[in-house]
This record gives sequence, structure tokens and C-alpha cells, in this order.
Amino acid sequence: MPQIYDLGQYSDVLKDVHLIVGEGLCSNIYVVGKEKATVIDTGVGNRTNPVWPQLEELGIKPENVSKVILTHAHHDHAMGAFIILERASPKIYVHEKDTQYIAYRFGELLVKVNEGDIIETELWPLEVYWTPGHTSGSMCLYNKEKKILFSGDTVFPDGNYGRYDGESGSLEAIIGSLEKMNKLDVEVMLAGHGSPVFSDANKHIEQSFNQASRPRY
Ligand SMILES: [Zn+2]
Repeated sequence: MPQIYDLGQYSDVLKDVHLIVGEGLCSNIYVVGKEKATVIDTGVGNRTNPVWPQLEELGIKPENVSKVILTHAHHDHAMGAFIILERASPKIYVHEKDTQYIAYRFGELLVKVNEGDIIETELWPLEVYWTPGHTSGSMCLYNKEKKILFSGDTVFPDGNYGRYDGESGSLEAIIGSLEKMNKLDVEVMLAGHGSPVFSDANKHIEQSFNQASRPRY
């Protein structure tokens, strides 16, 4: 079973935020809050990443799942949403440009979002930053006050960044998105895959921007 981390043990600003680590080709799942939880990315929803036992382990019942945010509509982030929908009816937030892929299956629970939209959570609001490049509707979620960035598959730690060779990917776009994220003040970065960055995430983002925008021969 995937491991669960109480991120509040590593950073004061992450009290009541939990990470369910994706196993194999599966995204991380972040759970923000407890009573009216917001689930950020849902994993692939297969047998090794079954979502519900982990949410229940956190004390989260179906009625406690208030919102689901998908940083983009790739299967390894989004298919777990259908597992969640088997028992709960949260609103599902997807950038409008990524709704074409699978989001039509969410029906009236779908909320299309775009640049500058604010998504309230139980803990703090998250602002939508449109960060195309990995997919055309990828987004990052930022809280300015706490300096937290949920970076999806746009920025990864240690100078890494998302693949841009998929169906709606674009190198030019991801460079632009990394440049945009590099202008934010980010202390804590929670990416779609891999380990969290608990301090000085700015440095990681700058490194990613520099890597992506270096000349190619
Ligand atoms: Zn992806």
C-alpha cells in the first residue's frame, strides 16, 4: 500500500496536509484539510493505488471530501477521481483547456477554472496559475501568504520539469510557465511526483527554468 506522510511534521505551514505517495506510474495525492478536504490530484486509481483505504486511514469519510483539483488531465493524476466518485460527490476542478480529455465524464460536478481563479480550501485559498507546456491545460496552485506551490507536472525538484512531448505539450510553453513560476516567492513545493521541497523551493524552480531554457543544439 502507498505510504502516507503527515506533512505538518516537516513544515509548520503544512499542518493538516497529507501526502499519499504514488506507487509506480501514479501521481502523488495531496489531501488538504480533514472535515472538508480538498484532494489535489488523485493518482491512477489502480489496485496498488486504490485511494479510499488511504483517505479512510486519514479519517476522511466520503462526506468529508469536498473538492478535487486535478493539476492536469493525464491518467496518472486523474483516474483516481473516478474511484473517489464511487463514494463521494466532490466538485472537480480542472483547467478549461484540459477538460477536453476526460473531464466530460464528471458531468455537473466539473468546475472549469482558469488563470487567477481562487479555489478555497479548508485551510487556505489557492490561486490558479495556468502553466501550459506539459499539457495545454496544466496548472499550478499557489498560496502567496504561506508560499506554498502545488506544481503538478510542471516543476519538479532539483532542476527537473515536466515532459513536453505529449499530445498537447510544448517546450516553448513550458519554458514560459517555468519563467512565470520563477517569479513567485515559493518556500514549499509539492510536485505531482517525487518528494516535497520544504524550504527554499525558489532555488529549485530557478534551476528548472534555467535547465529548460538553455540553448539546444
Ligand atoms: Zn502528466
